[in-house]
Amino acid sequence: MPNDKPDRTPNFIRNIIIEDLKHNKNDGRVHTRFPPEPNGYLHIGHAKSICLNFGLAEEFNGLCNLRFDDTNPVKEEDEYVKSIIEDVSWLGFDWENRLYYASDYFDQLYDYALQLIKKGKAYVCDLSSEETREYRGTLTEAGKESPYRNRSIEENVDLFERMYKGEFADGARVLRAKIDMAHPNMNMRDPVMYRILHAAHHRTGDKWCIYPTYDWAHGLEDSIERITHSACTLEFEDHRPLYDWFLEQLGTFHPQQIEFAPMNLTYTMLSKRKLLELVQGDHVNGWDDPRMPTISGLRRRGYTPASIRNFSEMVGVAKRESTVDIAMLEYCIREDLNKSAPRVLGVLQPLKVVITNYPENQAEELDAVNNPEDASMGTRKVPFSKIIYIEQDDFKEDPPKKYFRLAPGREVRLRYAYFITCNEVIKDEKTGEIKELHCTYDPATKGGNAPDGRKVKATLHWVSAEHAIDAEIRLYDRLFVKPDPGAEKDVDYKTFLNPNSLEILKSCKLEPGLKNVVAGERFQFERQGYFCVDSKDSKPDGLVFNRTVPLRDSWAKIEKAMKNK
Ligand code: ATP
Ligand code: MG
Repeated sequence: MPNDKPDRTPNFIRNIIIEDLKHNKNDGRVHTRFPPEPNGYLHIGHAKSICLNFGLAEEFNGLCNLRFDDTNPVKEEDEYVKSIIEDVSWLGFDWENRLYYASDYFDQLYDYALQLIKKGKAYVCDLSSEETREYRGTLTEAGKESPYRNRSIEENVDLFERMYKGEFADGARVLRAKIDMAHPNMNMRDPVMYRILHAAHHRTGDKWCIYPTYDWAHGLEDSIERITHSACTLEFEDHRPLYDWFLEQLGTFHPQQIEFAPMNLTYTMLSKRKLLELVQGDHVNGWDDPRMPTISGLRRRGYTPASIRNFSEMVGVAKRESTVDIAMLEYCIREDLNKSAPRVLGVLQPLKVVITNYPENQAEELDAVNNPEDASMGTRKVPFSKIIYIEQDDFKEDPPKKYFRLAPGREVRLRYAYFITCNEVIKDEKTGEIKELHCTYDPATKGGNAPDGRKVKATLHWVSAEHAIDAEIRLYDRLFVKPDPGAEKDVDYKTFLNPNSLEILKSCKLEPGLKNVVAGERFQFERQGYFCVDSKDSKPDGLVFNRTVPLRDSWAKIEKAMKNK
């Protein structure tokens, strides 16, 4: 379990549990579950559900299961199962020995179905899917009963067993619950419980050729595991009467389904189907592309488990759907890394600077602070020498009004080093491009302060050219150019993909202490943001870093947004 627990904010599900505990419902037990379908990688919306379910169990001394809702063999794969297990445990949650699969319950579900048939509450129906749709009626019109609705129990048992044995083709027959074709809730109009599907399942192989529907299976999965509070997203609100009906008919343990609003995030699509489309269409480089809102993408980008847990807590749990500003997620990772990530010097777009009055062949080691937020992180030495790199952006030949960084004739501070003054700009004769700067340093300003008290208006980061190590740095921007890419019904959300969401810088220069970094290590590059060693492409002789987020602090903006809520 996570040790750095975020502060608990009240929410209506927590209140329901508190009330239930007061009345000793379920003998005072709290048992939740996170039930993903292994048909894709988990995203930040799932993270919220994971934090909610495991968080409630933790808070009320209960248990939370991890359960794969693997009832649809066509879309499910083992790769997804593995990724989900990795993601949930990376977030810091422990299901102990309670890892379950809906497919483990297929035999039991089959028996339950036979029980319903024998009670006259389910029947085998031969209508085609098209006819079934026609018979279903509309929101304003009652449906029509299937001509197969009144088959005898014996015939239904026989046909269902033969469906199981594989005697019929896909789609030839279904098993339906016998409820009410005129029910105002369309979900109650004799919903399908089993469909015939001759498809191999990632766990049960060819054992089954009939597969349960979500509605039929989900409540029973909860019941079998004696889940007390079954939290799900709002779209299942209209399915709750059916959830309850099945459990009532069977007289089995009856968990309470509670719906909460799914999380939406600006500039982001949170739907496994759409994320799969982005992967399959090569719009991104796989599920763990650092631009993806998947947990694996966020992890590769440099997000920490604590930042995601804090974010989930901050977002809260509500009944009504809303959209969270992605700035809040970025705020959470900055907060975490500001305190925990060591600060280093790295130049993304190098500009060569020759310190003309610095001795040839000399190098010295200067003291640098690892994190001013945390003195216990100590200091380190960084080498300084005659030729250094600064950021191209940090020099302007013709500086605009409020530009205080380096310019001809101007003095600035090099972080932890010296004051330097720019004397000469060397350009390529043909292109006019700036090739290098010639500067002088003031030896009396060692460490970054002038003994005569003179001030400079800018402090730049830099690295010593001779000592620097090379790296590739990947900068990410939002994946979509629009805050709500899915909002327009008639326009494909992919139209709003940001063509500039990835920028690759190949000749970055980093301080030499970064030579032996390992995959996933995180740093603040001073003045540039937070960076993480790429877990896939970084090699000892070819370092690759991902920028997690730039430094810009958007707290003020978030605070304002929260006040206006
Ligand atoms: P699909 O579109 O494939 O149904 P799904 O995102 O609903 O995808 P599930 O595997 O069914 O995927 O989700 C597992 C759990 O995560 C469910 O309990 C679901 O309600 C919850 N969940 C899914 N999306 C969100 C979201 N955006 N915010 C909060 N919870 C979510
Ligand atoms: Mg779902």
